[in-house]
Amino acid sequence: MKVRVARNPPLRGYKGKHSPYVTRKLWNSLEQQHRQNVKGDLCKKTFSEVPLPEKEIMGRSSLEQQLFHRNDRFDLRTSDKEVHRKSKERGRLMQRTYKFRLYPTREEQENIHFALERCRLLYNRLLAERIAAYKQTGKSPTYYEQKATLPERKQYIPELKGVHSQVLQHVVERLDKAYQAFFRRVKNGEKAGFPRFKPESRYNAFTYPQSGFSIEEKHLRISKIGNVRIRLHRQPQGTIKTCTIMVKNGKYYACFSCEVENVPLPASEKQIGIDLGISKLAVTSDGERVESPQFLRKSEEKLKRKQRAVSKKKRGSNRRRKAVCELARLHEKVANQRKDYAHKESRKLVNTYGLIAFEDLNIQRMVKNHHLAKSIADSGWNGLVQFVTYKAESAGRQIVQVNPYRTSQRCSNCGEIVKKSLAVRVHQCSCGYVADRDENAAINILNLALRDIS
Ligand SMILES: [Zn+2]
Repeated sequence: MKVRVARNPPLRGYKGKHSPYVTRKLWNSLEQQHRQNVKGDLCKKTFSEVPLPEKEIMGRSSLEQQLFHRNDRFDLRTSDKEVHRKSKERGRLMQRTYKFRLYPTREEQENIHFALERCRLLYNRLLAERIAAYKQTGKSPTYYEQKATLPERKQYIPELKGVHSQVLQHVVERLDKAYQAFFRRVKNGEKAGFPRFKPESRYNAFTYPQSGFSIEEKHLRISKIGNVRIRLHRQPQGTIKTCTIMVKNGKYYACFSCEVENVPLPASEKQIGIDLGISKLAVTSDGERVESPQFLRKSEEKLKRKQRAVSKKKRGSNRRRKAVCELARLHEKVANQRKDYAHKESRKLVNTYGLIAFEDLNIQRMVKNHHLAKSIADSGWNGLVQFVTYKAESAGRQIVQVNPYRTSQRCSNCGEIVKKSLAVRVHQCSCGYVADRDENAAINILNLALRDIS
């Protein structure tokens, strides 16, 4: 039997029983035994005929491998937006996520990877069962049905006992959420990607939804993992609800989702409209400019270089793997720089203004030219709008998003349409009004917003 070499090979000097390499071997041999026991194709039997725990033992199927190509990042912020929307009054609770760096020892790293791999295999297993059951009976097992199989699975697969029980339950929940999101997208007529099997590279977090963790001075005590050193660079506010352990580019993080009370800022009468741009990140109706910072442009040059370095190297080679690692790290750095900048700028805006008007980015995408450096600009804008929105709602500020149609063409003084191409940077109207193109647009956005709310 061919044993695949694990992507994270056992760490040097490690002697514990939880090495992913050893366990993978064990897992594969269990799978082979299982194949001999259960004759025929699992999918051809009905869901109820096949005892669930037996089906558990499964490695990577070819189907799994085929489905591994597309990107599906685990996003911690998914639920935040709605929560922020609902909470405007003082004292209302809203959800905040705090992320801290962890410094696990070798053994603790092993434990984390062990739990991660068990969760991933369970996730893929549960997904396979849902698909198989649907093909047979036209109905998928529900969240509760799948959750009820966990104790039995543990009997057959002792490794699962090495993972905190609520973490396993959360895996079931995560799959269920993926399904719900899929059905929601179908219903809304969006491009609906079906929940996919997760390769190692796409499964990088597991969650303690209630208990099993506690902060003790400089350490985070995590059940079945150990007493991991944590850098608490700030104090998490409110009550901690869940703890997610995350691995990214060889670094370890703990994310605490907390319920925090709103603290509105003193009221402000100031209002502002904001035009998002390419050369400038944003221009306000007061004529202020939020520059696209130079360091981002520099990093983007570097990114391009590293990307080229990756594509020049032979697929499957060690040098390529290293280059991919470097690229991923640089991507992370750029994302962090961008986030940091957006956080600072959004804080300034929210502290100063009582009403902030933006273009609605979803509509804007359709209106504006597709040849613009879209992906680059997008992430900068999205970050800014997102951060301003949640900060504003916590602070009791008002955010309005308007349809950006013709905001850059219309004269903010007389309302006349003055046609101009993208290259024309100055708005010059026959009424005598002259202004910077983006500033004129920002004033239009503010006016639209004021019209919308009155
Ligand atoms: Zn005019």
